[in-house]
Amino acid sequence: LSPKEVAEAYLKRVQALDPGLGAFLTLNERVLEEAERVDPGLPLAGLPVAVKDNIVTKGLRTTAGSRLLETFIPPYEATAIARLRALGALVLGKTNLDEFGMGSSTEHSAFFPTKNPFDPGRVPGGSSGGSAAAVAADLVPLALGSDTGGSVRQPAAFCGVYGLKPTYGRVSRYGLIAYASSLDQIGPLARSVRDLALLMDAMAGFDPLDATSLDLPPRFQEALAEPLSPLRLGVVREALSGNSPGVERALGEALEVFRTLGFGIKEVSWPTLPLALNAYYILAPAEASANLARYDGTLYGYRAEGEELWPVVEATRGRFGLEVKRRILVGTFVLSSGYYEAYYARAQAFRRRLRAEAKALFQEVDLLLLPTTPHPAFPLGGRPDPLAMYREDLYTVGASLAGLPALSFPAGFEGHLPVGLQLVAPWGQDERLLRVALAFE
Ligand code: GLN
Repeated sequence: LSPKEVAEAYLKRVQALDPGLGAFLTLNERVLEEAERVDPGLPLAGLPVAVKDNIVTKGLRTTAGSRLLETFIPPYEATAIARLRALGALVLGKTNLDEFGMGSSTEHSAFFPTKNPFDPGRVPGGSSGGSAAAVAADLVPLALGSDTGGSVRQPAAFCGVYGLKPTYGRVSRYGLIAYASSLDQIGPLARSVRDLALLMDAMAGFDPLDATSLDLPPRFQEALAEPLSPLRLGVVREALSGNSPGVERALGEALEVFRTLGFGIKEVSWPTLPLALNAYYILAPAEASANLARYDGTLYGYRAEGEELWPVVEATRGRFGLEVKRRILVGTFVLSSGYYEAYYARAQAFRRRLRAEAKALFQEVDLLLLPTTPHPAFPLGGRPDPLAMYREDLYTVGASLAGLPALSFPAGFEGHLPVGLQLVAPWGQDERLLRVALAFE
């Protein structure tokens, strides 16, 4: 097959199936031309990739799921995209998300919700719900998402695919529209571990354009070829109760498999984990309130009608969705003088403690195992209370706050709904996650 034939086949599938799914916000109309021009000798020649719409693509509309960027055509390319394209990959289209990545269901997209391919009455998870649904429904073999507090892992779990949140800094954030900069990471979604490795090797590695970029060259495919000696696996005690029957069963079965593989298994405690949500929902909105200050209608994106500055700024920012407004208010509040010490500074101190605890845990074990989510995909409209929506991130925000790599892998079903489990590795040991997941696959 030529790159063009592959792209055509996937485009056809998207055109036939996406109207019922809502995974894509924009299709790349130039993809067939690009496929014709691709050098067939390149390692990723003709590989179609779907890209979460908060990752900028040169010349291709990038909305971040927001009315504020509804007509934004970026004049530059995110580093991750530039690297994929340089190896011959094709951007098939841009996928739906919660506005600016703020949500756990993709229902906060300003445009439309995405449906779960396993059940059209349920959410695909979020905020990378479009990417997860597209991969699960085979509208595309691979996709990019972003993970601030779980947005790659949770939708991967809800849609029965693999999703990796790399160590903070391993994939350049240049061109990723900022939500909470100390947490944001681009990560891949795929239907196999080897496909995750392919994307990571292509896009990870040092980038001078991102000040927090790590100089840790990716060696994912190489690592997958090495034999795996049994490791010490820690099951996180704080994530063992309150899970749905299918999640409990998947966990039990996975432990059996790891035991058979010769892994040493022990229960370990990460005491701050149950409170990680509280800190996350202070720190992430705080950073968001600063990052989103730029959408005032003066530089780019949507600008309301009018002559006078403040009314224009006000009307422009009025177009943020409800959840984004809520985060800006919370973030501004926790950073305001008088409350800064009580909220923001305490959350920062908590984050340091959580990180230290995780570090100590990795003296005892090589990897942590816990569910990705306490239950499978919930119904569309099923979390009208914002706090109930925030609680969906219970098990994912720990690795985020600690900056650690974490991977969600498909581990069974509850009825017709997929269940995902999560592996967390020490800082910089992303490759280990994939090696272990491959042994499980
Ligand atoms: N659901 C979390 C939030 O709303 C995480 C989102 C994300 O990782 N982008 O902040």
